[in-house]
Amino acid sequence: MKYLVTGAAGFIGSKVSERLCAAGHEVVGIDNINDYYDVNLKLDRLKNLEPQALFSFQKLDLADREAIATLFAEQGFDRVIHLAAQAGVRYSIDNPMAYADSNLVGHLTILEGCRQHKIQHLVYASSSSVYGLNSKMPFSTDDSVDHPISLYAATKKANELMSHTYSHLYGLPTTGLRFFTVYGPWSRPDMAMLKFTNKIVKGEPIDVYNHGNLSRDFTYIDDIVEGIIRIQDSIPAANPDWNAAESTPATSSAPYRVFNIGNGSPVKLMDYISALEKSLGIEAIKNMMDMQPGDVHSTWADTEDLFKTVGYKPQTSVEDGVQKFVEWYKEYYLKS
Ligand code: NAD
Repeated sequence: MKYLVTGAAGFIGSKVSERLCAAGHEVVGIDNINDYYDVNLKLDRLKNLEPQALFSFQKLDLADREAIATLFAEQGFDRVIHLAAQAGVRYSIDNPMAYADSNLVGHLTILEGCRQHKIQHLVYASSSSVYGLNSKMPFSTDDSVDHPISLYAATKKANELMSHTYSHLYGLPTTGLRFFTVYGPWSRPDMAMLKFTNKIVKGEPIDVYNHGNLSRDFTYIDDIVEGIIRIQDSIPAANPDWNAAESTPATSSAPYRVFNIGNGSPVKLMDYISALEKSLGIEAIKNMMDMQPGDVHSTWADTEDLFKTVGYKPQTSVEDGVQKFVEWYKEYYLKS
């Protein structure tokens, strides 16, 4: 099988590429290696992929429509796993325009490539942030969610809507995955785990939002990767009434799905910090802060649909996951 993985220098994309190559698939990874966070971390993730003979990399921007169209035309992909995006809820509060090219134009560019080249299955990253305010707990994909509270979340919801139209109109099988706060080795520096750790080891105070009164369904990176790998192998059935010649679906039952991938057991922010303090053997200095704009109080994934479809539920405990993160952190940042 030949895959396109977008965002291959990213936290999740690099791990997915590694898993696909290890399973004997050919992977073409693309990424624009932007400087939203430490470029060296992205380059080091790519370095890890160098020994994989089945992996090749091209530095490309999703919004470069011509370059992406050429890539699809030249490479003949079977499947696409689309993980590149401008990530980050908080950054989108002050930089909304940064999300237009990568998340809106970029997603459409990928959809077009998939449509024109009859890709078997497009799997793409959505986010738990689409649930926004006042969603029932646990968050279920059966509930309609249309009140995102950050532009980041709005672009992820838009990706689901755009994908639905492509599934409906052109019979393109698409699966959106709403990831819940992913952490672990090679984490993003703009996310709590790495931000906290960098401060704790320097003896600097960490900012604890909403006075610690928050909970998140923290999900370990390997569990996310396992979910992605299983889902991309389970392709939604195409609508038997879809007429490719006329390009018109006779019914609205499109090969379109959305799943949650989350741990299914929310953890209080203070317990997450305690696990980190224990693994590092250092007590954090805590700077208690108010709730931040764009933040929700809690997240909690209902993973029943995922389990029913692929027989898998994330299962790494926060204690184990944080311990593995700290081992990597010490090796990568403190050893030299
Ligand atoms: P990441 O930032 O580490 O990876 C995204 C990669 O995409 C980066 O390497 C970046 O350089 C690249 N990229 C951004 N814009 C691009 C463009 N225009 N063209 C080409 N490459 C571009 O983020 P991640 O944590 O690996 O997240 C992967 C996906 O999962 C993203 O779509 C993100 O929104 C989504 N997601 C992540 C989390 C999480 O907790 N990490 C949670 C929910 C959803």
